[in-house]
Amino acid sequence: MLNHVKILAKSNKNERFNNLLKILENYNLKYDICDVKFRNHYVKNIVVPVNRTWGVKRFVLSAHYDNFDGSTAANDNSSGVAVLIKLAQFMQNVKLIYRYDVVFFDREEYEDRGSEQYIENIGKDNILGAINVDTCGFGNTIMLGPVKNLANSIFQFITKEILEQHLVQLINKTPGSDDRSFENVDIPNLSIGIVPSEDVPLILAIIECEMDGKDPSTVEGLRPPTFVETTHNGTKDNIKYVSENSMQITYKFLKHLIEIQNQA
Ligand SMILES: [Zn+2]
Repeated sequence: MLNHVKILAKSNKNERFNNLLKILENYNLKYDICDVKFRNHYVKNIVVPVNRTWGVKRFVLSAHYDNFDGSTAANDNSSGVAVLIKLAQFMQNVKLIYRYDVVFFDREEYEDRGSEQYIENIGKDNILGAINVDTCGFGNTIMLGPVKNLANSIFQFITKEILEQHLVQLINKTPGSDDRSFENVDIPNLSIGIVPSEDVPLILAIIECEMDGKDPSTVEGLRPPTFVETTHNGTKDNIKYVSENSMQITYKFLKHLIEIQNQA
């Protein structure tokens, strides 16, 4: 997967887009491009349909491929894109019950317009649920949330037993990515990211603060978690901080979820 991150981690938007298409073509992953101006943004989403034989309702697996201006977006979010490419390859070759759209969203960094465009285009009623992957190349602990959404019947297959087989930290609130667009229109959604274990207590404290309506930056002793430095031109926003092992942890978890979800 690191090979793919190397190809994708470019600050030039067209280069990122074209390189992603090339990778998909190399693996014979057929895609649709949805190039539609949505409100104030030109949005080019890339959709890889998996198991199209099953009805019109689909489950979404997504990762944004766009970059924050100036950043090569190695960890945020070429790492997530690389994981989903590998997952789509796996899914192509197994028997699935559900239909899926593996979607690479444009314009997450700018108001989540990519996911909004996708939902409007497909129609909210045709989306059973979504799992969004963002920033999974740095650290060893899977952050999964928001916890409240695990209670939704579409996610019933994600049992305590499965979670115990992976290093998962459940969170009540996500850092905020394309999951917001799904949440805004009541589509069941979960988010997955990876962080170093030493970040976990900090992240939990920050989430608690935010849920109490307090600004974490005003709380003494609370500093931003280290993974934030791997994003948006931070001091570790460089491919040398992206690890194959972190992406493997994410991939194995997602692959396990897909296997369980499709057990007849
Ligand atoms: Zn991101």
